[in-house]
Amino acid sequence: MFALRDAVRNAILNNPDDYSDAILGKKREIYMSWICQENSWGGAIELEILAKNFGLTICSLDISTLRQDMFNPGQDRFVIIAYSGIHYDAVALSKTEFDSGRPEDDQTIFEGDMKGMEVLEALGELGKKLKNKHYYTDTAKFSIRCNACGTPLTGEKEATKHAMATGHTDFGEY
Ligand SMILES: [Zn+2]
Repeated sequence: MFALRDAVRNAILNNPDDYSDAILGKKREIYMSWICQENSWGGAIELEILAKNFGLTICSLDISTLRQDMFNPGQDRFVIIAYSGIHYDAVALSKTEFDSGRPEDDQTIFEGDMKGMEVLEALGELGKKLKNKHYYTDTAKFSIRCNACGTPLTGEKEATKHAMATGHTDFGEY
């Protein structure tokens, strides 16, 4: 699915003031080609762009710090994602009493009504539960392996270094 990556790229292309080299942390052209690659992991910049693109608010829960960030706040609808330190998971409300495992039984888009407010209020508790279960990864210390050559690596810095040195960009947790 590259449609989302294209949407991000177009937003950056069309808003040079909002997404300057300084904000992106690298040259705009380089950033735009980077985010269009399959293995690039987006972050706050991508969440803001996609929230605006879909006209909804994205609430991001950081499990390690329990911080909640609102991207494109104040919209009628919102979605919630939980950040583990490596990736984002969509937070869903099951329509059935027990989790059926079927995506159609999950609600992932919420309205700013009573139910939505209850979901937001419950988010703090969900965060605490996930944190207690250690459902997050310290990106400075986590162990990963290069899927291309099998080299074990520790932390984001080593992974970045390895990617720069070898061109390998496919890493897995282990
Ligand atoms: Zn490698």
